[in-house]
Amino acid sequence: MLIGVLAVQGGVAEHERTLDAIGVSHRQVRRVEHLQGLDGIILPGGESTTMSKLLELGGLLEPLRSAINGGLPAYGTCAGMILLAKEVLDTRADAHSLNALDITVRRNAFGRQVDSFEAALDFAGIEGDVPAVFIRAPWVERVGDEVEVLATVPSGPAAGAIVAVRCGHVMATSFHPEVSGDTRVHEFFINEVASQGN
Ligand code: GLN
Repeated sequence: MLIGVLAVQGGVAEHERTLDAIGVSHRQVRRVEHLQGLDGIILPGGESTTMSKLLELGGLLEPLRSAINGGLPAYGTCAGMILLAKEVLDTRADAHSLNALDITVRRNAFGRQVDSFEAALDFAGIEGDVPAVFIRAPWVERVGDEVEVLATVPSGPAAGAIVAVRCGHVMATSFHPEVSGDTRVHEFFINEVASQGN
């Protein structure tokens, strides 16, 4: 099993550390040739419009889009979720999408006062609370018929907001499991989602 971590911008090292902790080999993806031979790819958090720009400039946007839409399992966290979403609210008009998940997300949805917060989530397919760190996070405002909701915010002003979704070989979370020290969401991706690729 070899998992790519998109490394044009953002929180790459935290995902690498989490993959190390569960014994999964990984490779940084910076150029088209790094997509060869992967069993899955993680799109980290960061700044989605910057990532979009860098993907375009580096000639990686279209190859990545066709790899994922052609079956390469993908997991996007935060900005990574935004990149995967078919529709994005509150973004720049020139930001690109990988068009891989039939969801509508709103960027920075939790508001300026709550730039970052933590919550304990009930996550479908994972037993016990999952600690979730949100950093200027998006939420999901619409899911397509085929999309499964894996987690919502349990309480507080944003109670009910959808923050984890999955559709076949593609999954995304608004939050950052890679900074919590809990490896179970990554294990879920490896065991349940990456096994759906072709
Ligand atoms: N707010 C960022 C964006 O819109 C995402 C933040 C994150 O990835 N932690 O791209």
